[in-house]
Amino acid sequence: MRVLEGIGVSFGIAEGRALVIRRGERDVPRYRIGPAEVRREIRRFLGARMRAREEIGALRERARRTAGERYAGIFDAHQAILDDRGLGRRTIALIRERRINAEWALTRAVSELLATFGGLDDPFFRERGGDIEDVHERLQRVLAGDAPTEAHDLALEEDTIVVAPTLSPSDALWLHQPRIAGFVTEGGSRTSHTAILANALEIPAVLGVERATELIAGGEHLIVDGHEGRVVVAPPDATRKAYADERRRLEELAPREGGWAVPVRTRDGRRIRVAANVEFPEELETCRRVGADGVGLYRSEFLFLTTAPRLPSEEDHFAVYRRILTSAAGQPVVIRTLDLGGEKYFHEVLHGGEANPVMGLRAVRLCLRRPEIFRTQLRALYRAAVGHPNLRVLVPMISSLEEWRRVRAFVGQVVEELPSGERPDPLPPLGCMIEVPAAALEAPRLAREADFLSLGTNDLVQYTLAVDRANAAVAHLHDPFHPAVLELIERTVVAGREASVPVSLCGEMASDPLGAITLVGLGLTDLSCNPLVIPEIRAVLADVDAGEAARTVARARRAGTGPEIRQEIEQAFLPRVRALVGEVRLEPRDGADPPG
Ligand code: PEP
Ligand code: MG
Repeated sequence: MRVLEGIGVSFGIAEGRALVIRRGERDVPRYRIGPAEVRREIRRFLGARMRAREEIGALRERARRTAGERYAGIFDAHQAILDDRGLGRRTIALIRERRINAEWALTRAVSELLATFGGLDDPFFRERGGDIEDVHERLQRVLAGDAPTEAHDLALEEDTIVVAPTLSPSDALWLHQPRIAGFVTEGGSRTSHTAILANALEIPAVLGVERATELIAGGEHLIVDGHEGRVVVAPPDATRKAYADERRRLEELAPREGGWAVPVRTRDGRRIRVAANVEFPEELETCRRVGADGVGLYRSEFLFLTTAPRLPSEEDHFAVYRRILTSAAGQPVVIRTLDLGGEKYFHEVLHGGEANPVMGLRAVRLCLRRPEIFRTQLRALYRAAVGHPNLRVLVPMISSLEEWRRVRAFVGQVVEELPSGERPDPLPPLGCMIEVPAAALEAPRLAREADFLSLGTNDLVQYTLAVDRANAAVAHLHDPFHPAVLELIERTVVAGREASVPVSLCGEMASDPLGAITLVGLGLTDLSCNPLVIPEIRAVLADVDAGEAARTVARARRAGTGPEIRQEIEQAFLPRVRALVGEVRLEPRDGADPPG
């Protein structure tokens, strides 16, 4: 058995046989043309563009039918690249001036365009580079007279797992068919369009597996664990059984006829709310199905993904917020204002090229610097709240009381500017994210001036421990059980309690069963996690005694180091948690083999 590590981008587990696609670089024909052939080459290019437009239109329609309108928008981005006047003009100019054939001219024009993207560090731009390459490949294929990939009739076996260097969003749609159980790619990231589609279409997938097409042979037996980002090659029977049990357990845990807000109480009767973190309105259906206690975090910056390259308009914001608030059927919905910058998406109008973007002009800092962007979002949010008292507004990355006061004052001003019929009454609660250590230390003062606090452990750990959350080389140091992190969480909980202000938590820590128990032990009763793990987190918490969790966490914290704290908590709870959640999901992520 070999275990390959990558990025798990959709939560399912698949088992099957590998179909390895080793896509060679397309040989782009390059030849010089005579003056009499210039018009012919331009016509060939324009003809190919027209054909590609039809193909993308058909894919858009297919995406709309299978995944929903929001995902179909990905192909609008492809259409926009195809119709980009700069790209078309440059290709034609190269044919005309350099006297080269259409394929060669197109390659050169695309490389020039990509060079402007490649110099930017932000993953958003890098991903858009991937979209340009996808469109480029399509145009070259049409020029070569080949059939589209999605029409390729590979003689597929049942339970095929596709292993490829990269897969484009168009490929991801092609992969959405009964014989394909999952896929593995060498390239790609969590924010790529391919990852987003895999998640929406519920295809188990692991991306970013280095040299996957060399290390996996065609026909080899594979398990793709989209949960943990692992590919198990040639698993022995014991491992296959462990994964089969895990799949069954996940299926059984998911309530078939769920509904919103299925209650969960710990053994000693403490009510714990388990809400969902979402990025797209389509996920609300999953939230309802798994019995989420509303939406604990909607990351509004994902809206940029579907409107890029333009900024979302007030109406774009409004339509999405209304849709989420309506779909949540009265359950509380926390919409977080834009957290652009840092490692997150950002748009070309927002400035780039910072030396240290994670500590730079990110989130609320960017919103205060660019009030027109913040105002557009806030107007839409507060207008959407009319008739929807379930909205709560959350502001990310607050690092001082002055900053919080500036936000409150700005929000007050925007609300004043709204016509009276579009001003909600009462105003939605306005909450402050606690994800910078300074904010956790200032929590007693912030709690007096905020309507609620929400801890974001992903960033709180990053900033407390000086560990870049996006850097794999230091991922083992990103430890939510570190005593300094637990202390900041506890201080925030106490500050909220003393000021009678609700405190919730929406970092990934709540999606880890032992993390969730620890948080309950620290006094939290309001968690928000990935919707797909809600059934197991709920099952685990229903089996825990909150008093026992508090005693265990207090004892463990005396132990000293993060790993020792986790170990103590494991010793107390792991056997019971294992019975509920299964072994596979509990294995430490780094370097460990799954059981078997
Ligand atoms: C966090 O930082 O914990 C959080 C929930 O926000 P994000 O992951 O979007 O930065
Ligand atoms: Mg954060």
